Amino acid sequence: MREQLEQIGVQATEALKDVMDMEKLNDIRLEYLGKKGKLTGVLRGMGKLSSEERPVIGQLANEIRDQLEQLLTEKTEQLSAEKINQQLAAEKIDITLPGKKDLLGQEHPLNLVLREMEHIFVGMGFEVIEGPEIELDYYNFEALNIPADHPARDTQDTFYVTDNILLRTQTSPVQIRTMEKQKPPIRMISPGRVFRSDQPDATHSPMFHQVEGLLIDKTVSFSDLKGILIAFVEQMFGKGRGVRFRPHHFPFTEPSAEVDIACLKCGGEGCRICSGTGWLEILGAGMVHPRVLEMANIDPKEYSGFAFGMGVERIAMLKYGIDDIRLFFENDVRFLSQF
Ligand SMILES: [Zn+2]
Repeated sequence: MREQLEQIGVQATEALKDVMDMEKLNDIRLEYLGKKGKLTGVLRGMGKLSSEERPVIGQLANEIRDQLEQLLTEKTEQLSAEKINQQLAAEKIDITLPGKKDLLGQEHPLNLVLREMEHIFVGMGFEVIEGPEIELDYYNFEALNIPADHPARDTQDTFYVTDNILLRTQTSPVQIRTMEKQKPPIRMISPGRVFRSDQPDATHSPMFHQVEGLLIDKTVSFSDLKGILIAFVEQMFGKGRGVRFRPHHFPFTEPSAEVDIACLKCGGEGCRICSGTGWLEILGAGMVHPRVLEMANIDPKEYSGFAFGMGVERIAMLKYGIDDIRLFFENDVRFLSQF
């Protein structure tokens, strides 16, 4: 019986050595120490022993059981520690890895220029007023002194929705809408999209942006217009930039002028950008035609005013040296991220 017990001790110790998981460990516990286990089985046979042998064998059995229980406890601790380590290793987060960068968008160059323009004119007391992109023929043409048979309509290829409704070809209708609602003095700019059925090329786009300005008050003169526009050019393109006013014709202003600035590339010497002239056209302007004031119920004998209009794309192209208007609308991030 002593041999039997010692053998059980050796077998169990051996079995425990190779155990790798808790399940197996429990099996071994049951196999040796359970109610039907090997050690228990041996102890049941103790009744057959002599009274001298009983305490000796009993002590040995207890020692072996204690020994096995201690081994089992150690193994349990070892296995659970290993399990935690494995879990830690598997779920490890490498905090030294660089984080994922959030991709931040940035302002479109047209919006940058538009905001700068608004900032300049608001600084000179102008109010920003927006109007509808789908417009009545009356506001887009008629009220601007361009009646149905006027040749100026041919120069603006218009997208018509119906005979009477169109996509506005200029932001000037907002001026009419403002004059109808508001008594002078009026000092406003109207930025926004305009549409013309042009074939897209490096300088034409069927949709582009304009900023129109209007100032109506008593005793407004052409020199006020010059002063405001020169102040704008200096803030937009830098102090000392040459400005010239060329006589021109628009149906809604009289007298009218086109405004040029000294070429940003050659400064007036003449180069490829300015086609050798030394000047770059940036906007059209003039004194509001008395007919236009009359149609908006403003008495031209009491009030006078000036208006100007410019393309935002044109200004942005000059400012940033962009040579193709289509780049603004292709939404190529490589282009857009340069500003
Ligand atoms: Zn030039």
